[in-house]
Amino acid sequence: MVVEILKKLISIPSVYGNEKEIADFCESFLKGNPNLSVIRESNSIIAHTHIEPGRKTVALVGHLDTVPGENEFTGEIREGRLYGLGASDMKAGDAVLLQIARELRERDSRFNLFFILYEKEEGPYEENGLKLLFSKYGELLKKIGFAFVLEPTDNAVQVGCLGVIHAWFIFKGKRAHSARPWEGENAIHKGGELLKYLSELKPKPYRFDGLTYYEVLNATMVDYKGGRNIIPEEFRVNLNYRFSPTKSEEEAKRELLKLGNKVGAEVEFTDVSPSGRVCLDNPVLKEFLSRFKVKVEPKQAWTDVAQLSKMGIDAVNFGPGQPHQAHQRNEWVEIKKVEENYRVLKEFLLK
Ligand SMILES: [Zn+2]
Repeated sequence: MVVEILKKLISIPSVYGNEKEIADFCESFLKGNPNLSVIRESNSIIAHTHIEPGRKTVALVGHLDTVPGENEFTGEIREGRLYGLGASDMKAGDAVLLQIARELRERDSRFNLFFILYEKEEGPYEENGLKLLFSKYGELLKKIGFAFVLEPTDNAVQVGCLGVIHAWFIFKGKRAHSARPWEGENAIHKGGELLKYLSELKPKPYRFDGLTYYEVLNATMVDYKGGRNIIPEEFRVNLNYRFSPTKSEEEAKRELLKLGNKVGAEVEFTDVSPSGRVCLDNPVLKEFLSRFKVKVEPKQAWTDVAQLSKMGIDAVNFGPGQPHQAHQRNEWVEIKKVEENYRVLKEFLLK
């Protein structure tokens, strides 16, 4: 049954920014269950059961959009794999979420349950549908004590995540003709110390509750003001910092400011995303991990788990998709994994 829903979701294209049709389908699907209250905001949806005080509240969360891409075998099953754009990332997870919501017609849940499906995950953070839901329904969503975000993890539980900062390191010089460099100051040359420091920097492991996260800092872009025969007056290096889940945004920013000071650069932050808490002490997660034999892994990349974490909601990634299939041409998902993810969550969440 979960596979039938997945096939349906795959048949509705939902490339970033075009989620209306799939949101319409999911909204009416969820409204088909009279035990759920359903809220629609733009192309994002919140559905929840009656909220009984004294019962823990758990959410299943998924994004509805995909990246653009091609698939020659859309809707086909070959060797136990179902093909389609977004099959792994993350319509398989969305299908599990919808099937569990449907089961609630006949069975009760052990928890107050939220089902959250949102638009625009695969683009800039400012447009992110989950962010919009939090800005409008923050009070309601704060009732959630724990969330499973069903991003592709091959059914491993991925805990925590690194924070992300992008910052320009700006070196100022003085413009001059390159035949008479002594009349100016070369801004590019001033960046030498920073580039040397970065090239010698090793990934820094942070062990946390038995999981290892690697903090990394890299130059990813450069820009300048000048020209071929000009001593450049400005040189900028974009630094991409992936910082440990043990650090706050403020601490991480302070470290970069200190580095800027040391190498003589002005620092301009362009993007700051929080890290996700390593929430192995959350009682719902503890119970889940004690009951089911699932792999527990650290999350080295950034996901919306961090956004939930920032709102005070502990969350992990746990989804049936195969991470290596995400954003691939001819994307597929292993049907066995979808059924397994569904079986585990159903057993855990429902009575
Ligand atoms: Zn995804």
